[in-house]
Amino acid sequence: MKFISTRGGEKVTGAKAIVQGLSANGGLFVPEKFPQVSKNELEEMLSLSYPERATKILIKYLDDYDEKELLSACEKAYAKFEGGDPAPLVRLDDGVYMLELFHGPTCAFKDMALTLLPYLLRKGCDICGIKEEILVLVATSGDTGKAALEGFKDADGVKITVFYPSEGVSKMQKLQMCTQEGGNVNVVAVKGNFDDCQTAVKEIFSNEEYNKKLLEKGVRLSSANSINFGRLAPQIAYYFSAYLDLVSSNQIETGEEIDFTVPTGNFGNILAAYYAKQMGLPIRRLHCASNSNKILTDFLATGVYDTNREFYKTTSPSMDILVSSNLERLLFEISGRDTKLTSKRMSALKSEGKYEITSEELEKIIQTFDGGFANEETCVEAMYDVFIDTGYTMDTHTGCAMKVAVDWFEANKKDETKMVIVCTASPYKFPQDVLYAVTGNDVKDSFKGIKRLHAATAMAVPKCLQNLRDKPLRFTKTADSKKLFEEVLEFLK
Ligand SMILES: *Cc1c(COP(=O)(O)O)cnc(C)c1O
Repeated sequence: MKFISTRGGEKVTGAKAIVQGLSANGGLFVPEKFPQVSKNELEEMLSLSYPERATKILIKYLDDYDEKELLSACEKAYAKFEGGDPAPLVRLDDGVYMLELFHGPTCAFKDMALTLLPYLLRKGCDICGIKEEILVLVATSGDTGKAALEGFKDADGVKITVFYPSEGVSKMQKLQMCTQEGGNVNVVAVKGNFDDCQTAVKEIFSNEEYNKKLLEKGVRLSSANSINFGRLAPQIAYYFSAYLDLVSSNQIETGEEIDFTVPTGNFGNILAAYYAKQMGLPIRRLHCASNSNKILTDFLATGVYDTNREFYKTTSPSMDILVSSNLERLLFEISGRDTKLTSKRMSALKSEGKYEITSEELEKIIQTFDGGFANEETCVEAMYDVFIDTGYTMDTHTGCAMKVAVDWFEANKKDETKMVIVCTASPYKFPQDVLYAVTGNDVKDSFKGIKRLHAATAMAVPKCLQNLRDKPLRFTKTADSKKLFEEVLEFLK
């Protein structure tokens, strides 16, 4: 399988696509064609474990990797999840299921990909004949940084440095990162907000002199952000696995179409669902859920993607995004894989903050996708209603998805298609907001929030958050955004 860029030019192997991350002209790597999974193959996957199912899907794209080794890497990655099943499906009601993707080491769905990425990246380098040590640099607004640190902790031949804005992550997120264990990790606070931090890290990636200096030291830079195909591929697997679980628990017949509702930020998670559909998984509709930053809801209604709007800070921070980078991959498919048109739209986005697709293209998109959003009140209401009616507690991101799913049920009363709602974070990751939603109580302290939430819901507290309070702080440094390269050199000493 070869990969091409959404903006034309390159054609590379899977290993190269992962190692390089982004094509030279700024485009995103996409598979030359979608590998297919037949009904027979689906049925054969029914009896497999999660790592085995994931391997079957991944190897179709990454056929330059060794299947046995990939399986062993998947087994190791998914053994880090609590409770045995890394992607359990919980039945909420007749026809409504919660796909819980938050049982990994950092309690958010990003663990599904970031526990496996170190293997895909290191092995990818070996396949490409790259001998240097890899240094992964991450600028994070919160969740990705911690998930990347956990994923890369003590991985062979790889080091990682995470930069986070000193004024821009929650107390819990900061604690999670600053207590990080591992001999190959570094965490630095950067003075300023997320944009300052991201810009400074981008400058290191694009500075030729910096990169040359590092290569002389035997170090090559790499990134772990969500446009890397190595982040996308492991996410396709859980859509298959959820479907298979519905079949094996007799909720559906093989071949029956189902819907997914996905809380969406950078459009990575929901794009993986679209890829699964393109591979032949019987998916009918994908419901794209946003918070008050409802740029995708508006796009799906009008065909205009316009970032010239107010930005809201919400209680679902991982969805506070105005530029959904992975949408480029969908635009590419919908345009009939037109690289010129995709490039043109992406440069319009850069220069004017806006682009528009044709009505024929929008028609094609809405055959599969629809969009909706929750504001702060309707998110809380959806979380509360489900808690009261069923006893199920969800986090604020999943709460947005729940609101969108409930709106769909209201508008389509006779619809009997089964609905899977994708749960992206543990409720304990946002304890104060979730506590407020289900009990109306406000507490100031996160740990008190965890305690109260446990008392209110009796839900087990994940180990990684429970232990946090007693862990020693390892990283306390704050750096000027102009001095990040010095920080990198210092760490490599
Ligand atoms: C990252 C994240 C999202 C958004 O996922 P995308 O792939 O960026 O659409 C939603 N919820 C949580 C909890 C996340 O961490």
